[in-house]
Amino acid sequence: MTEKLLLLIPVEKDGALPKTAWETVSAVRALGQGLNAPFDVGLWGADVKHAARELASCGASRFLAVEGADFADARYATDSAAAEALARASQATVVIAPSNSRVARVLGGVSHRLQGRADNHATAVQVVDGRIQLTRWYYRQRIMVVLEREHRPWFIALESGAAAPWSGPSGDVALEPVGVSLTDADKRTRFEAIQQPPADQQTIRPDAELLFVAGAGWTKKQRDGQIHVEEADRIIREFLAKSGASLGGTKSIVDQAGEGGAVLSCMSHMNQVGQTGSTPRHPKGLATCCHGEEPHVVGWRFINERRAVNLDPNCGWAHGKADVLYVADAFEVMRKVNELLSS
Ligand SMILES: Cc1cc2nc3c(=O)[nH]c(=O)nc-3n(C[C@H](O)[C@H](O)[C@H](O)COP(=O)(O)OP(=O)(O)OC[C@H]3O[C@@H](n4cnc5c(N)ncnc54)[C@H](O)[C@@H]3O)c2cc1C
Repeated sequence: MTEKLLLLIPVEKDGALPKTAWETVSAVRALGQGLNAPFDVGLWGADVKHAARELASCGASRFLAVEGADFADARYATDSAAAEALARASQATVVIAPSNSRVARVLGGVSHRLQGRADNHATAVQVVDGRIQLTRWYYRQRIMVVLEREHRPWFIALESGAAAPWSGPSGDVALEPVGVSLTDADKRTRFEAIQQPPADQQTIRPDAELLFVAGAGWTKKQRDGQIHVEEADRIIREFLAKSGASLGGTKSIVDQAGEGGAVLSCMSHMNQVGQTGSTPRHPKGLATCCHGEEPHVVGWRFINERRAVNLDPNCGWAHGKADVLYVADAFEVMRKVNELLSS
């Protein structure tokens, strides 16, 4: 099969490329080389000139652009219209986009309009024996599937971490404008504002170096026979503020709010890591007062370096689930860590 590739990217409102776009550039370049196939770049946004200049030396045959104020904000109708027009203009058989909420929202619909097929959450794309293979996880990251498709066009949203970010010199680019006619109905949805908690209350930080997991032990009776939830809360908040770590929790601790137990103020169900929780990606992880049970640890699949602090030398982490287990009192350890971070 002769392939033609399209690297499809929504440009941010400020003209920048989304963070994961650089990795997708590397992945598409490698695919192009492996298949001996050319690739186009398709950009849409309010103003894509800066982004196009940054990709000038990436090796694309053509730079297609849908530009205009109507395409500044994420909006299904205009984003899908732009992506559809770019895909049609390039005549690509395989369209690859960096996975973010904007892309994920429209890719399925756009693929349907072109009678294509779409796969999201791809963690790798590669060429094996001249065929494209895509890697994707199923069942809460427990089953890894490598799949091929005959059907074209094939739309793929590539997750972050799938390739090393591309970098190359910027330069002049001949942009080929692609026209999109919008109706009033397409512009009916208006972007108002982004609402998000203040930075110090935002405990889920996907870009953090470290995932800090708090388990139910923080709210259990301690050696003096008392519970010390307020102190636990203080220690954890201080650590998060000083380290910039992302906060994860076990099912046991996040469920406590609903069960009327002693709760940490910074912990919600959104923080839960594990089989029924999230599977975050961070270079390092530190589990504290958490037993390290399999349904929790399965959420640590993509954490590279794992450490845990637990009073129990026989806890789950000791059974090959952590690189380093500190058999120690997490209150004492984290108090000391905070002290060191302050000095
Ligand atoms: C189908 C299914 C799905 C599940 N999904 C998830 C999931 O998505 N995520 C998840 O987390 N769990 C999940 N679970 C539950 C999981 O099996 C565990 O029950 C849960 O993770 C235990 O939480 P924990 O380690 O915080 O609490 P505990 O098991 O109560 O462990 C507390 C730990 O704290 C230690 N400790 C206490 N005080 C201190 C101290 N001062 N210093 C150091 N250590 C101390 C204790 O030694 C103990 O090991 C699931 C279970 C099932 C059956």
